[in-house]
Amino acid sequence: MSVSPSFAKNDPELVEWALRCLRVPRDQVVRLRARGATRLPVDTPVTAGLLLSEFAELQEAATCSDLAMPAGATECPWTRRQLAELENDYADEILAKRVTVLTLLERFPAITLPLFLEMAGPIRPRYYSISSSPLADPRRVRITVGLVEGPAWSGAGRYRGMCSAYLAGLEPGDVFYGYIRVAAPPFRLPDDPATPVILVGPGTGFAPLRAFLEERALTGAAGPA
Ligand SMILES: Cc1cc2nc3c(=O)[nH]c(=O)nc-3n(C[C@H](O)[C@H](O)[C@H](O)COP(=O)(O)OP(=O)(O)OC[C@H]3O[C@@H](n4cnc5c(N)ncnc54)[C@H](O)[C@@H]3O)c2cc1C
Repeated sequence: MSVSPSFAKNDPELVEWALRCLRVPRDQVVRLRARGATRLPVDTPVTAGLLLSEFAELQEAATCSDLAMPAGATECPWTRRQLAELENDYADEILAKRVTVLTLLERFPAITLPLFLEMAGPIRPRYYSISSSPLADPRRVRITVGLVEGPAWSGAGRYRGMCSAYLAGLEPGDVFYGYIRVAAPPFRLPDDPATPVILVGPGTGFAPLRAFLEERALTGAAGPA
């Protein structure tokens, strides 16, 4: 069984919100310089809109060091005090409610944040188990994705998972980037198709099990599982 790491784009409304918080026009061209290894595009002109759409992870919860960094970036004593209090109450007020760096920027407009991209970090790939058998079509893979969606734990608006919501919005014919990685240790059916199996979702849920059922059906080995 293989997994397919996938690269999505941020929701356009979220990108607009981010640009407003940062007070940066969408078309503003910037050139990033690397301060270490990064997956952000460095030494090349790129618009702020593109950076926030395709490169910056916008929905991650703020970290403790994110709270410490804006404090140094503002002269406003009230903002500094508020951020220090949030840092003391990090587990309940930030982590449990998944408050993002962007939410902090909106809440505390005195913060100027040239280091926002460094704090937000690059979009991390999401992994999806391949849920089809190569016997069905060796040139095509199916993935089975649960949409992450619900009232935001921060209490403000709705939360939609970045990649699952992006996939849910794709139309037939749209292009989506990903690559195939073979899981280690391998997760696959026994070689003998007559061997009975008990299927248990190993934390990644139902998706890989669909592939096994399809494989058994195609090899004519369907029976008590
Ligand atoms: C090896 C592997 C295989 C996987 N296979 C599959 C698969 O086959 N199918 C599948 O669907 N997924 C699979 N996953 C999970 C998948 O990779 C993603 O994590 C999942 O789709 C969510 O990604 P997202 O970008 O939509 O959500 P993200 O934007 O990453 O958001 C998810 C995060 O949001 C938080 N969150 C959830 N609800 C709320 C809320 N209401 N308010 C605030 N925060 C919230 C959660 O704590 C979570 O940390 C797999 C993961 C691994 C590691």
